[in-house]
Formats: sequence, C-alpha cells, structure tokens
Amino acid sequence: GDDVALKESVRLIREVPDFPEPGVLFRDISPMLADPAALRAITDALGRGLAFDVVAGVEARGFLLGAAVAQAFGTGVIGLRKPGKLPEVADRIEYELEYGRATLELPADTLRSGQRVLVVDDVLATGGTLGAACRLIRQAGAEVTAATVVMELTALEGRDKIVGEHVRALLRS
Ligand code: AMP
Repeated sequence: GDDVALKESVRLIREVPDFPEPGVLFRDISPMLADPAALRAITDALGRGLAFDVVAGVEARGFLLGAAVAQAFGTGVIGLRKPGKLPEVADRIEYELEYGRATLELPADTLRSGQRVLVVDDVLATGGTLGAACRLIRQAGAEVTAATVVMELTALEGRDKIVGEHVRALLRS
C-alpha cells in the first residue's frame, strides 16, 4: 500500500558526499522525481489529510514537488523565488543562512490574505529557508497549514527555526 510505495521511493534518493562543498552530504531527490510511482507516493504523502487552498513551492526542487502536490489535491501553486527572477514582487523576506544572507520573493497577484498554504520543499537542513518561507506567507496575511519536506536532516535542528508551524517530514535522517 501507501507505506510500501513510500519506502521504495526513499531508496531513489541519492546521497552525494562533499557537494556543493566539502563536508556536506547532499541528498538528491532527482531520481525520485523521475520515477512515476515514487512521484505519486511522495506527492500524496506530502498533502494527505491536510486542508489547504494553495501550495507554495520553494525554489527550485520545491517547484517540481509543489506543482505535483497542487495538481494531486486540486489547488494552484505559487513559486517562492530567489531574488532577481520576478518582474513584479508582492513581498520579500531576507534571512540568515549558515554563511551569509538570502532572500525569498512572493510573486505579485498570487497569494490572497486568509488563504491556507501548504509550503513544500525537498530538504529541511538548518531550517532557514523553510522558516523564511513560512514567515513570508504569514507576513502576506495568509495561513500556513504545514511546512512539508521529503527529508529532514535532524542533526541540524532546523525545526528550531520554524517554531509554531506544523512541520511534516516524510523521512528523517
Ligand atoms: P536550510 O535553509 O539550511 O534548511 O537549507 C534548505 C535548502 O537548501 C533546501 O532548499 C535544500 O534544497 C537545500 N539543502 C540544504 N542542505 C541540503 C542537503 N544536505 N541536501 C540537499 N539539499 C540541501
């Protein structure tokens, strides 16, 4: 059933040492996304049982996952983007990363205040990115139903940066 499909899917995640820099074990979900049964299983598991009006996917692998989740649950999808990509920006948020700062932008004419949003990304590492995505959505007057990822790297304690939100990880490592 659902659990078996999910377990099979997890095996399609590639672990790549020392990418993008020495000491980082990169989790590449590309082969998982490329497999039809795995894409179906993770898509269903990310959204199952949650009430949401729209999906927000974080650039870039969150775009692919987010669009699949939106289609499966009958909602639209919003891409939360890195700076300089969007012609019109409704709102933006700056946040701290391990090294330096980063920005996420909300496209104009997408999110309406009061909407319930399912936030989607591939990996929860230090939590800076997912936390910022949630704050950006709340700052725009919308609700965060849950912040969802395929994989949570628990040793980095990223959940501590997303306090107060419902975090769903399909897999912990
Ligand atoms: P963070 O803000 O530290 O939680 O980093 C999360 C973002 O960086 C996500 O969008 C991930 O795609 C990416 N990321 C960070 N660490 C990893 C990793 N070990 N493997 C794959 N992606 C990662």
